[in-house]
Amino acid sequence: VKTEFGTRFPHPAVSRTGVDLDRADRETGELYLSYLRSFPHRPEEASFFEDLARGGFAAPVRRAKEQGLPVVGLVCNFVPPEFVTAAGAYPVRLCAGSPAAVEVGEEVLPRDMCPLVKAVMGMRVAGGGIVSSCDLVIIPSSCDPKRKIAPFFSAYVPTWVVELPQTRDYTRTRDGWLEEMNLLVRRLREFTGRFAARRELRDIIELYRYRTTVVRRLFSLRMENPAALSVLDYFLLLQASFYLGPEEWIARAERVAATLEAAPRPEEEAAPRVLLTGAPLLWPNFKLPHLVEEAGGHVVADTLCSATQALFDPVEVDEGNFAGLVRAVALRYLYPSLCPCFLENEERTDRILELAREARADGVISHGLRLCTVFDIENAHLAKVLSEKGIPFQNVYTDYGQEDREQLKVRVEAFMEMIR
Ligand code: SF4
Ligand code: SF4
Repeated sequence: VKTEFGTRFPHPAVSRTGVDLDRADRETGELYLSYLRSFPHRPEEASFFEDLARGGFAAPVRRAKEQGLPVVGLVCNFVPPEFVTAAGAYPVRLCAGSPAAVEVGEEVLPRDMCPLVKAVMGMRVAGGGIVSSCDLVIIPSSCDPKRKIAPFFSAYVPTWVVELPQTRDYTRTRDGWLEEMNLLVRRLREFTGRFAARRELRDIIELYRYRTTVVRRLFSLRMENPAALSVLDYFLLLQASFYLGPEEWIARAERVAATLEAAPRPEEEAAPRVLLTGAPLLWPNFKLPHLVEEAGGHVVADTLCSATQALFDPVEVDEGNFAGLVRAVALRYLYPSLCPCFLENEERTDRILELAREARADGVISHGLRLCTVFDIENAHLAKVLSEKGIPFQNVYTDYGQEDREQLKVRVEAFMEMIR
């Protein structure tokens, strides 16, 4: 866990354009929120998540700050929020989907970097919002751009890098990863002055495990009856968990699940069932799922690190002592990951096939984010395997802007028509 960037970047950049990100994101998000409000049979309880999104998910983070909790910003899904909670701090995920923040990010980063990374950096450079509330930022060395923004961040706030193995081979990487995670626990303890003892850590793990059961419930409900909840609402709900404490998220999400369980099942599924894979889709960049639904399709499952994949797997504890609990958490956040920075090219394909079967998907759409190569490079293999199985596949390559919306609309509609 490295912390020594500060001396190299002593002067934090301040945005020259003075963009009001909150306002710009609200304008982008309103397109999707007004669509959701007109979605038939939408559960009333989903409006809580809509209000959160309208405020940029900042309200719970502000509350945590007012309570005196240190806020720890996490990039990607590899740093366990359980450890941050155990250190008496408040975890939030910083990966961002804001188109306006991309432009601010370009003031300090090269234009030819992926929009997600430029958006994260742009939020910090613009000031305000969740990213500026962070007392500490932890960035895993997943892809090169992520690794490379760590020194820029350290000009504003203490920034640590967690070194990830570049392969899923358990026998080669397990010890190094456990060492890295134990170091993280020690550093968090030093940073906040506390870390939960065994019993408290076990309770924290249980709480997050329970959150997983609610996520799985929602996931299955979507698969069975996708017409009862827009996938945009489903994504909003899951992404709210990146900012809300687990107790509050569970209470709110369980109400949505209960309403969906009571919703009438459709007699016959006429709409094409789509599995969404590829690069993360983060609020307010919901262009692709919106286009799929507008074209009459249902996203019934996904492998996105911004949605189901982030929250699906529970921590499996096999030894109840402190070291065993830390190990169980550490392993959960690495080995089930479907991040291509860490998998061999065909490993994500295996999971997609399994999920396509389980979700009875009629087709697979891959979200390709402009200038992100790690997903794109796997698509040739994915397309070939899916074609052998007779599953139609479409790669949608785009960015956070709306300029290509009409062009993508035509392509997505044609794909839905073909599936039908
Ligand atoms: S795909 Fe991997 S590197 Fe990219 S945001 Fe997700 S977890 Fe991080
Ligand atoms: S994996 Fe791709 S989308 Fe994710 S941060 Fe890296 S370059 Fe961007």
